[in-house]
Amino acid sequence: MVDHLANTEINSQRIAAVESCFGASGQPLALPGRVLLGEGVLTKECRKKAKPRIFFLFNDILVYGSIVLSKRKYRSQHIIPLEEVTLEPLPGTPQAKNRWMIKTAKKSFVVSAASTTERQEWISHIEECVRRQLLATGRQPTTEHAAPWIPDKATDICMRCTQTRFSALTRRHHCRKCGFVVCAECSKERFLLPRLSPKPLRVCSLCYHELAAQKRREEAKERYRDSPGQPTHLGGAVCGASSGDDDDSDEDREGSGDGDWPSQVEFYASDVSWSAFHS
Ligand SMILES: [Zn+2]
Ligand SMILES: [Zn+2]
Repeated sequence: MVDHLANTEINSQRIAAVESCFGASGQPLALPGRVLLGEGVLTKECRKKAKPRIFFLFNDILVYGSIVLSKRKYRSQHIIPLEEVTLEPLPGTPQAKNRWMIKTAKKSFVVSAASTTERQEWISHIEECVRRQLLATGRQPTTEHAAPWIPDKATDICMRCTQTRFSALTRRHHCRKCGFVVCAECSKERFLLPRLSPKPLRVCSLCYHELAAQKRREEAKERYRDSPGQPTHLGGAVCGASSGDDDDSDEDREGSGDGDWPSQVEFYASDVSWSAFHS
């Protein structure tokens, strides 16, 4: 299904249409050999609540964004290289059925489809693309994944000290290492997590101690390698305060787009027409 679409006019038109929906807020998406395989609305479990997001599956990337005007205007574009993706089916909850997790080294999140069939289609198409990408690039599947953020509403108290109660004044924070919802006091530390960001990020007290201990062990090992026989000194500052980059990426700054979008999915198997996109 990929090969017959590559370098076709219809494929170029589809990609151009996606680019135009994102407008200046998006990246150029057309590349030689890149094929748009399908699109549809999935519900993404965000920090505050579940929200509809438009997803586009290409043969090498997964693109998603928030919906300003269905099939006309999208924004907050995110591009995920498929070779980094691992999927994990999840059990349904009272609020959401047909869920699964999209895991990457930088970010992991939960989405759900409108039906079991749609879910199965998304999962099998994405997995097929991942498999082909890995084959093509010779890379190994990513084994270290970012922890998904636990949604705000999952807890009213800090998940570390279990004392602090959240309110309008006492805000929730997320540990970038474990994804737990924690209070300010339990997430004072910052630590460099190179897979996630070049800047030190907010971590909870438990993760901080684990990360710091791990770093000390690695440093001690290195010193021993450099000068075996010398006693090793533990310690050393780990990381200072960050520049305060505590944004939640696409999770906040939502304007409209919270409406009840009809979920629909379309995969461009050979006989499916594209016309639905423009209707
Ligand atoms: Zn706390
Ligand atoms: Zn943590």
